[in-house]
Amino acid sequence: MNKLPEDFIVQMKAELQSNFPAFLASYDKEAVKSLRTNIMKVSPKTLQNMMPFSLEVIPWCSDGYYFPLHTRPGKHVYHAAGLYYIQEASAMAPVEALEPQPGEKVLDLCAAPGGKTTQIAAKMNGEGLLVANEVDNKRCKVLIQNLERFGVTNAVVLNEQPHRFSDRFSAFFDRILVDAPCSGEGMFRKDAEACEHWSIKNSEKCAELQQYILIEAAKMLKPGGRLVYSTCTFNQRENESTLEQFLQSFPDFHLVNVPNQEHFQPGLTPSTVQSARLWPHLLHGEGHFVAVLQKKEASSEEIGKTKKAKKQPRIPKQIAAALDTFMKDTFLEPISFAGHLILYGDHLYETPLGIPSLDQCKVAQPGRYLGEIRKGRFLPSHAWAMTLSPRNLKHVQAYTSAEPELYKFLQGETVSTSHQAWTLVTVDGYALGWGKGAGGILKNHYPKWLRFVYDQPK
Ligand code: SAM
Repeated sequence: MNKLPEDFIVQMKAELQSNFPAFLASYDKEAVKSLRTNIMKVSPKTLQNMMPFSLEVIPWCSDGYYFPLHTRPGKHVYHAAGLYYIQEASAMAPVEALEPQPGEKVLDLCAAPGGKTTQIAAKMNGEGLLVANEVDNKRCKVLIQNLERFGVTNAVVLNEQPHRFSDRFSAFFDRILVDAPCSGEGMFRKDAEACEHWSIKNSEKCAELQQYILIEAAKMLKPGGRLVYSTCTFNQRENESTLEQFLQSFPDFHLVNVPNQEHFQPGLTPSTVQSARLWPHLLHGEGHFVAVLQKKEASSEEIGKTKKAKKQPRIPKQIAAALDTFMKDTFLEPISFAGHLILYGDHLYETPLGIPSLDQCKVAQPGRYLGEIRKGRFLPSHAWAMTLSPRNLKHVQAYTSAEPELYKFLQGETVSTSHQAWTLVTVDGYALGWGKGAGGILKNHYPKWLRFVYDQPK
């Protein structure tokens, strides 16, 4: 068991009273492990039948499953194909409470590494606009990789402090998730580092930061919109008190019940009983806190106006021609793009419609990365491959997860092929990446940073 800070033990005794011994005993048990299905690519039932070990449904998330502790789904090729995300079970509750819908405008304000962003994206199924923000540059890169692996097409990634863009999105979003930075007490069972960094002073600092983030979020939510606030701490100062302070300053917000409340415990104070506490001694998961805030509907004159993005210039003719040649050689039927095509240097992106001007903001990823123009030719990106279904492709190198040749490809080796063009490599019908066929050899375009040894079926 990780060594718990003395002050933390005192605080939890006061918070839990007669329930404290049961809470403390939960630290002697091993943490459960779980994953969440990418419902854009596969149904939970199909995934359950495909995986080589048993999966047990998580009561508050129909896409989520517990997996056996001795297994390694992170090393299975279906993970590389983006069929699931390994996510802590309690951490699935906030997006279930957010209830994002296809076609909406949704903001994930504290997004990396992307567990909840990919969950939101899957529920939106590529329709609407998803803005994911992460202040930390390194974490932002991991977020982008996770969105790519999942095959997300409609996300814009920002790398900013919230006040740097909140005026651009005034009363703009239908739903906002604030999965706030916190003291991480709920992760003490899994994470020794969270234990070491903990102090009462640090928790107070977190509470100030949470208030700042919530205030910026409030400005960006449409009247009638839904804001979910979540943390992975037990700390009352960062949960109930943060909410109470926010509600005092923003009387146009009120708390509503968290869905699936029957699996959880209520918030600890009379004014926050509609929020949810997830306790590790009362469910199979770590500690979490979730609250749903609803913003009052407004009269039409109160509805915010956003500054429209400048009209994007058309992409230059020779670049459009290179893309066109690639698409004619690659796809069976012509494809159309739901968003705008924009060029950054030699890199082509598809940016979702309806995004306001982001001048002066640090945009880490303006949308789906399609590829690069090199020496007049179009080189498709790995990100684009991960959003494709083999049904509309002319050249597909289809492997099953049992074929040793597939694992050579995933380690970056060249493999043999009969194709003479850009070829989508798949496992059991799911995209993994590109190869380019010539002279009987498939040149490997699987990204170098993803090449590693996956577990092969025995
Ligand atoms: N939602 C993420 C997920 O499910 O994978 C986890 C988010 S983590 C609990 C909180 C995140 O907030 C961290 O990535 C941290 O870098 C970020 N953060 C820190 N300061 C912030 C700020 N001022 N505004 C927004 N996010 C911030």
